[in-house]
Amino acid sequence: MLNIILMGPPGAGKGTAATWIKEDFSLPHISTGDMFREAMASNSPLGKQIKDIVDNGGLVNDELTCALVKERLSRKDCQNGYLLDGFPRTEAQAEALKKMGEEIGRPVTLAINLTCPDEVLISRVTTRRVCPKCGASYNVITLKPLKEGICDHCGSALIQRKDDNEASFKVRLENYYRSTAPLLDYYKKEGLLHEFDGTLSMSNLKVEISAFLRSYL
Ligand code: ADP
Ligand code: ZN
Repeated sequence: MLNIILMGPPGAGKGTAATWIKEDFSLPHISTGDMFREAMASNSPLGKQIKDIVDNGGLVNDELTCALVKERLSRKDCQNGYLLDGFPRTEAQAEALKKMGEEIGRPVTLAINLTCPDEVLISRVTTRRVCPKCGASYNVITLKPLKEGICDHCGSALIQRKDDNEASFKVRLENYYRSTAPLLDYYKKEGLLHEFDGTLSMSNLKVEISAFLRSYL
């Protein structure tokens, strides 16, 4: 069973990898970052509550985040596997995930970690552009859309995420090293951790991860 958590620092390429992993292996893609951004875009009570935190690069509180993930993982479309992206990010979230995984009979079977040095992360994040409508990700230097500023997939105007500025990125990276990176050890001890080089070109990374997932199945 492919019950996957996708890990790695901000800018390592989790979202981009997720777009083809979910297609190739027919997995529901559960991105807590996307869920939070949707809530903010629709100005829901949740969106209003978290906006300042997310825009400044902070972490949304564990209780709220875990409740959201538990509800999502319990849905029927996760019964044959799932691709969790951006969760868990703290020790409390990892513990909650273990517990809910057991409760609903859907424990994590693989932790895929994308590694990437800090200097690459910062330059990628500050040059990233995203489609607010379909979520596609571009880069003004390395992954330009066919028409400048326009999404190839749906024609919407591309935007820069509010938290993709240097100051917010710094906070995200600090949070990553303080709260999230220590979880890698935990998944390693559980024998679930598999690391891939996030600096590879997208096509090479795809070859490596796909081959690994196929051999796992
Ligand atoms: P990235 O990996 O590029 O930093 P994400 O899209 O995964 O970004 O997340 C964007 C923001 O959403 C985070 O900076 C944080 O504010 C919030 N967020 C996402 N996932 C979590 C989580 N598991 N716990 C707390 N906050 C989260
Ligand atoms: Zn689009």
